[in-house]
Amino acid sequence: MIMEVSCDVKEIKEKDEGRSYEWPKPDRCPHCSGVRIWGHGFVWAFFECFLKGLYLKRYRCPCCRCVMRMKPRGYFQGFSVPVETIRASVASRVNGEAWLKDLGRGRQRHWIRALMRQVTAHLGLGWRNRLLEGFDDLIGKGIVPVSRSFKT
Ligand SMILES: [Zn+2]
Repeated sequence: MIMEVSCDVKEIKEKDEGRSYEWPKPDRCPHCSGVRIWGHGFVWAFFECFLKGLYLKRYRCPCCRCVMRMKPRGYFQGFSVPVETIRASVASRVNGEAWLKDLGRGRQRHWIRALMRQVTAHLGLGWRNRLLEGFDDLIGKGIVPVSRSFKT
């Protein structure tokens, strides 16, 4: 289970890549509401904007064995590029402007294509010319707008 926490990614990086950062600890287990939460090491995750990566803190609930992984807010699950950057790329294309530099056209094209599919599937064909609105709308619905997989 991934829990998004508000924290400064830069600050995490400076604290030993996350290992000596004071990660927020959940008050209770989101799965069983147990209040005993134990540390459960770290997991290495690669973040594009830092070229290196960060250690993300994990906690474990001894009651239901659920593992919680702390992830800085601002990233879609499975994506190493910040949400804002992806949105900026989409906005640029929607406005008929160039692809963003330093990101690679292929990937940005993938985002647009995936977004088109997600918007069509979840919001309907009428949204295809309102992609940026659709992007925000899907986030509000808890859907990763540029995901290649579909949640039902
Ligand atoms: Zn639990």
